[in-house]
Amino acid sequence: MDDGAAGLKAVHDCGGVAIVQDPAEAVEAEMPRSALAAVPAAHRLPLADIAPLLHRLVDTRLPGPAVPVPEEVQREVAINRGEATVENLEAIATPSSLTCPDCGGSLWEMKNARPLRYRCHTGHAFTAISLRRSQQEMSELALRQGVRALRERELLLRRVAAIAQSTGDAAQAAAGLAEADRLRDQMRTVKGMVETMPPRDEDIDAEADA
Ligand SMILES: [Zn+2]
Repeated sequence: MDDGAAGLKAVHDCGGVAIVQDPAEAVEAEMPRSALAAVPAAHRLPLADIAPLLHRLVDTRLPGPAVPVPEEVQREVAINRGEATVENLEAIATPSSLTCPDCGGSLWEMKNARPLRYRCHTGHAFTAISLRRSQQEMSELALRQGVRALRERELLLRRVAAIAQSTGDAAQAAAGLAEADRLRDQMRTVKGMVETMPPRDEDIDAEADA
C-alpha cells in the first residue's frame, strides 16, 4: 500500500528530513517503494544504518532558516481539523466525477499530488490505490446484494405459485414459475460474476508492485 507516502512528502516539503528503509531488504517492499516515489530525495538505507543516521541528524544544525509550511499543506491540515470548506478544497484540489466510498460525497482530486490522491467534503482521504480497493469492495458487496435480492424474489414467486396451484389457478401458477425460473437464471449469472472476481487485493497489489 501507499499509505504514509503522502504524509512523508508533506514532512519533506516542510523542511523535514526523510529516511526510508531500502525496499530490497524490507519484508513489505511496497510501502518504502511508494515513499521513495513520493520523496526521491529521501535517505535510502538498510534498517541497521537508520539509527546511526538519526543519531547524527539530532546533533546536526539544519542549514539556513526554517522552511515555511507550504500553503497546500496548511490547507490540508485545516481540512483534517474539520474545516473542509469549498475554499480550502478549491485551493488544493479539483472536483472529480467520483464519489467517496465512505460517505457518498463528491471526491476532489488533489492538484499535483504524488501519489495521486482524493479528498471528500467531510475529510475522508484516499490514494488512488486505497480508493480502488474500496471501490472493489463496494462492487463485490453490490453484486452479492443483487444475488440475494434476486434469490428472494424467486422464492416469493415460487411460494405464490404454489398457493395458486393449490387453489386451482394453474395459469397464474405457471406464469409465476416461469418468472421464478427467469430470476433464477439472472441470479446465477450475477453469482458467476461474483465468483469470477479476482481475490480482493490481488490485481491492485500486483499493479502497485509493478
Ligand atoms: Zn467521505
